[in-house]
Amino acid sequence: MTKNGLNMGKTDSDLFYSDNYLKTILSNVKTIALVGASSNWNRPSFFAMKYLLAKGYKVFPINPGVAGEKILGELVYSNLNELPVTVDMVDIFRKPVDAGGVTDEAIEHGAKVVWMQLGIINQEAAHRAEAAGLRVVMDRCPKIEFSRLFGELSWHGFNSKTITSKRRPVGKATAPISSEVSDTIPKMPPAGFETRAIHSGAAPDPTTGARSTPIFQTTAYVFDDADHAASLFNLQTFGNIYSRLSNPTTSVLEERIAALENGRGTTCTASGHSAQLLALLPIMGPGKRIIASNKLYGGSITQFSKTFKKFDWNCTFVDMDSIDEVRAAADGQDVRAIFAESLANPGGVITDISAIKEIANKAGIPLVIDNTMATPFLCQPIEHGADIVIHSTTKFLSGHGNAMGGAIVDAGTFDWAQNKNFPSLSEPEDAYHGINFYESFGDLAYTTYGHAVGLRDLGPTMAPMNAYLTIMGIETLALRMERHVQNATNVAKFLETHSQVSWVSYAGLQSSKYHNLAKKYLPKGAGSVFTFGLKGGYEAGVKCVERCELFSHLANIGDTRSLILHPASTTHRQLTDEQRIAAGAGDDVIRISIGLETETDIIADLDQALV
Ligand SMILES: *Cc1c(COP(=O)(O)O)cnc(C)c1O
Repeated sequence: MTKNGLNMGKTDSDLFYSDNYLKTILSNVKTIALVGASSNWNRPSFFAMKYLLAKGYKVFPINPGVAGEKILGELVYSNLNELPVTVDMVDIFRKPVDAGGVTDEAIEHGAKVVWMQLGIINQEAAHRAEAAGLRVVMDRCPKIEFSRLFGELSWHGFNSKTITSKRRPVGKATAPISSEVSDTIPKMPPAGFETRAIHSGAAPDPTTGARSTPIFQTTAYVFDDADHAASLFNLQTFGNIYSRLSNPTTSVLEERIAALENGRGTTCTASGHSAQLLALLPIMGPGKRIIASNKLYGGSITQFSKTFKKFDWNCTFVDMDSIDEVRAAADGQDVRAIFAESLANPGGVITDISAIKEIANKAGIPLVIDNTMATPFLCQPIEHGADIVIHSTTKFLSGHGNAMGGAIVDAGTFDWAQNKNFPSLSEPEDAYHGINFYESFGDLAYTTYGHAVGLRDLGPTMAPMNAYLTIMGIETLALRMERHVQNATNVAKFLETHSQVSWVSYAGLQSSKYHNLAKKYLPKGAGSVFTFGLKGGYEAGVKCVERCELFSHLANIGDTRSLILHPASTTHRQLTDEQRIAAGAGDDVIRISIGLETETDIIADLDQALV
């Protein structure tokens, strides 16, 4: 239980409702009593009421404090007994302890459904209602479930978990379905990775039937009327306003990445670096600190240590292999997050995510994992405890070296109200007229904030064309990653035996000190980016990259093409010697990203370059 008496943060993890169960309720109910209705536009109950009225439900607001007045044109009653009709459903916006009494009134009243809002769980009351033959839903918002189940997906990249190749009208409940039938429809098993990579987020276009996701090359979206505009700006309904905040093509990509990472929702951004900025925005503030691995991507080290410093965001870099060092660093009052890469670039370093997660849990802060190098095909950070996963989609997700992008995935499991450290999410937010995001959106709060405040106010929006290219790339992610891993493994084995090579650091090799962590966290392979050392040092490194013909000498990874780089003379040259060595980018180090060309051609090119 949190300080405000709500059960945010999954205290009852066994609450599961099948989609059919929720659909049956939402398509059979016609009349709803909304207990705890508020006339204040930024309260969650006002949001829900406005949305349910717009979807055609008859809503009776109940609130003894304002009985006799009107909310959204509907007369307010002081309790269920006063209602002129028997309602189908009682929707409860009251603290869990008070939900018990309301549930008993609902049973007596003759309602068929008791629905308790986000954060409200009262198991005893639920048992009493079920014993009396009512259906019960707890810890859910009917507005969010309605939009998820009836195809209204186009706002924040929420993971709706719906996959369909049928064209459906948007935002309309299906015709009432018989309760008996729908309750016995077997629940479909969750779709496999490859199916999600091709389908998630992308139903056929509702107006044209286009099967491939259209590129919505538009800046803005028309409002139906003034009230619709107000609802959109107030976040009371889902929809698009202006492409800086959301775009239907980008939303498809957002949902797809959320589905692949098994997250709750995703915010896409213009680049991996802007994803890092936006991921930290709701968490950080002046004088606050993150704990980050000292083996991050070179650009991330500069961003965290220099540029974020201008916001007075501090960073302590630690060796993530040393659990004691991480624990000691995370012990400060000002620490707000731990940040690491699942598989680090360069160097083939693997983070023990579940061990770090324990430290984050104790400190009451989220664990943020950069999963760029591994991709969700090779590593599932959320399964191991990550609260937030970020990506540079520029790399393997788009996969063809042709589209910049970033993504922030929220697992939806972090309790933002467990302490006072995250006021942007758990207290009224000035940047959005005093909305309390966590109270209004529950496990969608972080993703909603990412769009409504992060993208709106900082503006690093992904271009729809780049979203489209990344959607295309992801459709073949599984196939590509399998071949990337196969080629990389064979190239690493070749280099291990080469006379000019002093060492090879690839977590897929038996010789790697990360081999055991690789088996746990990357069971399908350790990616295709790794480093090796040349006996000839700096000079030999420069010579090698210049002699390559097939390999492209450039600063990128995760292309279909094989890429080569000498970090000491390029990407890592702005770091100090100490930082470079800590980041695995010493003078003799060559980094390669193995592509999808014929394996023997890749090996032959390296062989002729290593003289
Ligand atoms: C490339 C990269 C980034 C930065 O992403 P951009 O899309 O280039 O902004 C961050 N983290 C890792 C691991 C990367 O490889």
